Amino acid sequence: MSAIHLQNLVKKFGEFTALKTMDLAISDGEFMALLGPSGCGKSTTMNMIAGMEEPTGGKILFGERDMAGVPMGRRGVGFVFQNYAIFTHMTVRQNLAYGPKMRGAAKAEIDRRVGAIAEMLQLTPLLDRKADRLSVNILQRVAIGRSAIMEPAIFLLDEPLSNVDAAFRAVMRTELKQLQRQFRQTMVYVTHDQLEAMTMADRIAVMDHGVLQQVGTPLEVYNDPANVFVARFIGAPGMNLLKGRPAESDRGLVVDLGPLGITPPLPGELAAVMRGARGEVLYGFRPEQATLVQNGQGLAMQVTFVERIGARTIVHLGHGEAAVKTVFDNDVGLAIGDTAIVAPAASSVRVFDAATGLAMK
Ligand code: ATP
Repeated sequence: MSAIHLQNLVKKFGEFTALKTMDLAISDGEFMALLGPSGCGKSTTMNMIAGMEEPTGGKILFGERDMAGVPMGRRGVGFVFQNYAIFTHMTVRQNLAYGPKMRGAAKAEIDRRVGAIAEMLQLTPLLDRKADRLSVNILQRVAIGRSAIMEPAIFLLDEPLSNVDAAFRAVMRTELKQLQRQFRQTMVYVTHDQLEAMTMADRIAVMDHGVLQQVGTPLEVYNDPANVFVARFIGAPGMNLLKGRPAESDRGLVVDLGPLGITPPLPGELAAVMRGARGEVLYGFRPEQATLVQNGQGLAMQVTFVERIGARTIVHLGHGEAAVKTVFDNDVGLAIGDTAIVAPAASSVRVFDAATGLAMK
């Protein structure tokens, strides 16, 4: 049985459809990220799970229970927003204790829980500080603690780290994951940041324009994107996609690179798929999964830009209309204007139908 089951869930605001028939089953204890660009419908989905918005169509089940008409306070969910919601006139301790106190917990029990959650979120030395003296980073930690202390079976977080600074965000990613492991909560986490989704989630639901594009583990969406949107959106930089077409003589596909087409190696199953293919295709490979070769079969292209990002270097390459990015170690000896021959690892190559955008399998 799923902890949360969205069935044909639809949300319209007047004429505008923010969410188109979403089906998603989230397992008990699972960390599910809703990932997608701004405006894709992540928060709308989350607000319906929380009970802050009514669906226009479809159902939300918690276990076997239909949540239609069940108000937010009765759903047993904890909710943390982008903007921390805490009482600034209270101390950290009073903020953490607030929920259990309202529920009528005994003082000893409140102290024990506040102590445990403060320890986990590294708030122990700050327990007696007034909240209005604390940084945004710490306030968001308190907000998470305030919700987590209630030990909700379902914990909903909507971009909780988008206002904290980068270094703190990295620390919080680890802490949130540990928090979830410890309490074995079902967590739904809204983010537009794929790094957050990739590092914390058990599975990721990738969304775009109110449509669920793919659900899978971080590795599944990275290795086997269901369509070109996911291929481009996941990865930094995203997957390279070059125009191509099926080869005439059962030899896989031809990538259009200048006047000469090349026929790069394909994994066995894709070579078989290409035998029956018609029409334009997109040849995809990850920037991290290509090597430089001196000669032989590869994409001969010109270096258009070199981005040094510390441990790695992103090399931009172009030829005619075709453009790709590749990621190499930082000692790569390429400069703008050089010609480089890039050979994508055959096993990592993916092919998409150019008309539908769907992965060919
Ligand atoms: P963001 O990260 O920017 O919040 P999101 O993926 O969470 O993006 P939503 O907030 O779910 O996106 O919004 C989805 C779409 O629905 C957007 O185009 C938004 O403008 C629209 N929308 C959201 N709430 C309302 C509302 N109350 N009335 C009208 N349109 C809305």
